[in-house]
Amino acid sequence: GLVLGIETSCDETGVGLVRIDGNGRVTLLANEIASSVDEHARFGGVVPEVASRAHLQAMVPTVRRAMATAGVRPRDIDAVAVTAGPGLAGALLVGVAAAKAYAAAWDVPLYGVNHLTAHVAVDTVQHGPLPPALALLVSGGHSNLLDVPDLAGRITSIGATIDDAAGEAFDKVARLLGLPFPGGPHIDRMARDGDNAAIAFPRGLTGPRDAPFDFSFSGLKTAVARYVEALERVGRPIPVADVAASFQEAVVDVLTAKAVRAARERGMDTLLLGGGVAANSRLRALAQERCAAAGLALRVPRPALCTDNGAMVAALGAHLLAAGAKPSDLDLPCECVTAF
Ligand code: ATP
Ligand code: MG
Ligand code: FE
Repeated sequence: GLVLGIETSCDETGVGLVRIDGNGRVTLLANEIASSVDEHARFGGVVPEVASRAHLQAMVPTVRRAMATAGVRPRDIDAVAVTAGPGLAGALLVGVAAAKAYAAAWDVPLYGVNHLTAHVAVDTVQHGPLPPALALLVSGGHSNLLDVPDLAGRITSIGATIDDAAGEAFDKVARLLGLPFPGGPHIDRMARDGDNAAIAFPRGLTGPRDAPFDFSFSGLKTAVARYVEALERVGRPIPVADVAASFQEAVVDVLTAKAVRAARERGMDTLLLGGGVAANSRLRALAQERCAAAGLALRVPRPALCTDNGAMVAALGAHLLAAGAKPSDLDLPCECVTAF
């Protein structure tokens, strides 16, 4: 089956095309993205109304580009999948309306999918069918440990952040350091020239009485702010590379330690990383090191598949289609809340 996937939950208009074969193998045919990120940069964060308007302008051209890249015609397409949530209401609405229109016009089933599950499903595009896995999903709005028995089955969250998401912490700390939005990739780059043991930043929720699989990053963000302010007060230069490296280490140390522990406790052989923060080079390296030590297989999609894109939605739609899942109704609502 050939599946078109549409993603508009935040600031990227993503359209992907994948093919799934009888053995559940997914092939990526196109993954086109139009981002409005530059329009948000001067505000230091995504402005929902700006994002919605940009999706509206980019939607049809991006679908056309994806179909041209893949060399497919409308009659080749077997299903349309779309992110139904979670995300920004006005942004989701554009993608969902477009997906309904394409599904109705082409007379194919529509699958409204969960954005977070799609971040997990995209790995199958690169690494093939997924065995039962523990997934660490880390992005701009979420930080979860997910028990994933099967992509078309019941996914449960066994832990989550109690305050900021990991990506949100990266973006806020980047702002403190005067780095552009979104800050994650800039911190990643700056950190390469820094010493990750230079400053002892706190590891949130790692005490013996803390919830073993929950995360907290707001105390860490505050600690970085205090550190920077203290230097500014006495007029000393801020060692940006060392702060970036030490902050990043505090985040990825906790993420990987908890993810590996969760996988072992749940008897999983595989740990999967997904979401925008999974593009982080230090997270990928430390996860590799700790999975090797724990005897776990690690699966991490390439960075371009970690951040928001349409292929992830198409991939999840393809697994639903192959599993014979019931399609969504054409009055499918946007779900702006988190649910798997
Ligand atoms: P959600 O999936 O929760 O709705 P989202 O859709 O905003 O969040 P994603 O594209 O999944 O976004 O993730 C974006 C986040 O990933 C941003 O916070 C960004 O700073 C972060 N990020 C991207 N690349 C890196 C990197 N190399 N290192 C750290 N963080 C990164
Ligand atoms: Mg984005
Ligand atoms: Fe996302």
